[in-house]
Amino acid sequence: MSHKVGMVSLGCSKNQVDGEVLLASLQDAGFTLSNDTEQADAVIVNTCGFIESAKQESIGEILDLAQLKKEGKLKAIVVTGCLAERYQEEIRKEMPEVDGVVGIGANQQIADVLKRVLEGEKTERFPPKLELPLSGKRVLSTPKHYAYLKISEGCDNCCTYCAIPLIRGRFRSRTIESVVEEAKGLAESGVKELIVIAQDTTRFGEDLYGKPVLVELLRELCKIDGVHWIRLLYCYPNRISDELLDIMANEDKILKYMDLPLQHCSGKVLAEMNRYGDIESLTALITKIRRKIPGLVLRTTFIAGFPGETEEDFEEMAEFVRDIRFDRMGCFAYSQEEDTPAASFEGQISEEEKQRRVNLIMESQMRIMQEMGEAQLGREIEVLVEGYDETTGFWYGRSEADSPDIDGCVLFTVSGKKPELGSFVMVRVEECVDCDLIGALVE
Ligand code: SF4
Repeated sequence: MSHKVGMVSLGCSKNQVDGEVLLASLQDAGFTLSNDTEQADAVIVNTCGFIESAKQESIGEILDLAQLKKEGKLKAIVVTGCLAERYQEEIRKEMPEVDGVVGIGANQQIADVLKRVLEGEKTERFPPKLELPLSGKRVLSTPKHYAYLKISEGCDNCCTYCAIPLIRGRFRSRTIESVVEEAKGLAESGVKELIVIAQDTTRFGEDLYGKPVLVELLRELCKIDGVHWIRLLYCYPNRISDELLDIMANEDKILKYMDLPLQHCSGKVLAEMNRYGDIESLTALITKIRRKIPGLVLRTTFIAGFPGETEEDFEEMAEFVRDIRFDRMGCFAYSQEEDTPAASFEGQISEEEKQRRVNLIMESQMRIMQEMGEAQLGREIEVLVEGYDETTGFWYGRSEADSPDIDGCVLFTVSGKKPELGSFVMVRVEECVDCDLIGALVE
């Protein structure tokens, strides 16, 4: 009788893809996958270890499972992902309930680790992180109409606040052929939206081809039958080429949506972050992007409370947010991450003050997004149908402007034939509530 294995996968979409590869190799090794951790013999916690709040969430999940184990409802707990990679020692010392700790380089050994821990053997595997497979068979954890497409791993940008290069290692790309082959397989399995991800998608291929070849990759992805939407996340501001803007403007399948984390706009703060630009150069870049791709949905991310950020620096960022009017945005409080350069910078700011700054930025952003939503009233927009909510009686889905898990959604009513999940429909926008659009299916 095969053992049942469950997984709790946390953190970013890149870690989610790694989790899907883990599940496929367990299935191939004869384990039965269980969506219910309470029914499983063993559970893998595919952790995030990027910033403090994410670490606490991962630890919380492990402790919840440890309680299940204490109650005899679970035989084994295995920890994978970034928290394992970054805190091997601490997990061994401080979490005796954990039976297996696996660094990202050992993901291919997961079936053997599970076998051993279920036989009662405490197991740790920490080969070089570069042994992490960049691709592999997957058990999709997303609804079958969309999937993430991870095109490279690691990062060499070395922003001073970021632990990812420490955890995931140096930047390394897949080949165009391997990405296209995977994308074709996903399309054949019914995936209609491909979400292109990496730590820095705009650097894709620079290590293998001597120059970034994201444009060449996008051109190939556009040729794949069945793919309706291609969404680009994690672009790096100083790698936005004219060729990239041209292909985004001219290829129908490539969504007019760009995720462009900026983190700040003050030249002084960006230099301290080991990032480039200032308010003038970033404004010029965004103006150019919007001129070349009219109607583009621009998403970004900011960090508030970076060490040494003065009230003036913060005000400059708040004004930038008000002036640029991003369509989508996240703002996070700086997290002092050990072993990163910024962790020892002068001028560390209190948690309260950091949170005050985050709240101010997000308050003005919510106002902007509500105004932008209200400007959509009467428009008919294309929506990818994702489900029906019995309690509200609304159908829901995502438009071009909504990336899963990080953006909003579109709610709509249907008076005639029910739409199919994973189909594309037109919705007439009638209202905007809390930045979410509400409308009616165009029958
Ligand atoms: S670009 Fe900067 S923030 Fe993003 S993963 Fe790389 S080092 Fe971290």
